[in-house]
Amino acid sequence: MDMLIGGKHISSEDLQEVKNPYDGEIIDMVPIAHRQTADLAIQQANIAKKDLAEMSAFKISNKLFNVVDKLRQNRTDFAELLSLEVGKPINESLVELDRSIETLKLAAEEAKRVYGESVPLDAGLNGKGFFAFTQRLPLGVVAAITPFNYPLNLTIHKIAPAIACKNTVIVKPPTEAPLTVMKFCELLDEEFPDGVVNTVTGYGSEIGDYLVTSPEINKISFTGSVTTGMMISQKAGMKKVTLELGGNDPMVVLKDADIDKAVKGVINGAFLNAGQVCMGVKRIIIEDEIADEFCNRLVSETEKFVMGNPLDSKTTLGTLISEKAAIQVEETVNNAVGEGAKILTGGNRDGAFYEATVVDNVVMDMDLVAFETFGPVAPIIRVNSVQEAIDVANDTDYGLQAGVFTSDYANAMKCAQEIEAGTVFINKQSTFRTDNMPFGGFKNSGVGKEGIKYAVEEMTKTKLIGLNLR
Ligand code: NAD
Repeated sequence: MDMLIGGKHISSEDLQEVKNPYDGEIIDMVPIAHRQTADLAIQQANIAKKDLAEMSAFKISNKLFNVVDKLRQNRTDFAELLSLEVGKPINESLVELDRSIETLKLAAEEAKRVYGESVPLDAGLNGKGFFAFTQRLPLGVVAAITPFNYPLNLTIHKIAPAIACKNTVIVKPPTEAPLTVMKFCELLDEEFPDGVVNTVTGYGSEIGDYLVTSPEINKISFTGSVTTGMMISQKAGMKKVTLELGGNDPMVVLKDADIDKAVKGVINGAFLNAGQVCMGVKRIIIEDEIADEFCNRLVSETEKFVMGNPLDSKTTLGTLISEKAAIQVEETVNNAVGEGAKILTGGNRDGAFYEATVVDNVVMDMDLVAFETFGPVAPIIRVNSVQEAIDVANDTDYGLQAGVFTSDYANAMKCAQEIEAGTVFINKQSTFRTDNMPFGGFKNSGVGKEGIKYAVEEMTKTKLIGLNLR
């Protein structure tokens, strides 16, 4: 598949294979772009700013709704391509499509709500006699750089609000899984003027880095790892930057919790997308009194996962993004076992597959939980009090989301207030998001928020216009 720049299909002398992680087959080839191509995209995105500025909010909204319809009509094709390139079970891909459609719809609605406000300058010293108001203006060109795990929905979380508030976009899709994003940008290009959306494929270290440092790009909207995010924040200069980074989300299970509900939370939170979820349940912090019973029930539910061809609707656990990624998870679990952890179920790897795995006797010193483990692993950390649970939950550089399971409102509120995370859910695992909510972590998990309305705030600048009526 070619890149899309200024409405034209552009290739490169260098091509990269996009492989199905399930069987290693080549699905497609995409260009490896170099700086010259990125320059062309930057130029085209800057030219298209004028075309977009001339479109009314009404028209932009309608066009985004047209893309909603097109995506809905092609839902199954997109989901199959997503499963092929990411290795996620088809039923999960269909959910990603539904969320993508919803995200796009929210942006189509938000395009009509980019309001300013009137400002009472007379509330300030010497402000009497003025009439003033603000306008929310586009920043210009937004570079959207996205990861492999939810390529379509996470990219739409950037492109759609950017266009809704009249920014043009250059998308750098994930290297491992660029195809659904590229195909989606073709749908957008059918509706919007050439250059409003552009795709540039290739390596993050070359193309991503070039976009980040370009003075002709006004905003970097990045989702990915903490390591890359930190590099971006150092290099971006005066550009606005939103960073949606990794997570090491805790699930706190107190002794008065509904155990079945908490077990279900782990099943849906630790193993979804083979554990490759930023807001996945990555640490289960449980009061010792109920830990044995909880583990027994968790193990029996975990053993129900069916690994297999992601395109088979009976498959409930797909592959990781690559065999290399699966080996990394295997080694991290094995190292934890070497330090005293105990595998209760799972622990085996087959190519890019890694079994749904429950590990008991985990402590925060182990790399398995000290860093983000991006795989289908549920590590159990036993504690003896609510305060200890909160302290362990906070004993990390990350702070994306958290889940607390308890039937005691006072403890629920204590945890909600003291756990350092962008979101704390009570009686729901961290692995939950609606596409309109403010989403974004504390600490190293990020800077800024997404969720359409919040992304629009981060993709606009405020101008004050004051009339001296004296
Ligand atoms: P990654 O950081 O390796 O890559 C993300 C994107 O950045 C890719 O498109 C990559 O090509 C590009 N990139 C790489 N080096 C770059 C550079 N020097 N300059 C600019 N761009 C560069 O992340 P990944 O492995 O694709 O994704 C997994 C990570 O993403 C996990 O840590 C996960 O938690 C995180 N994530 C966060 C969220 C969130 O919303 N907070 C959502 C999904 C994933």
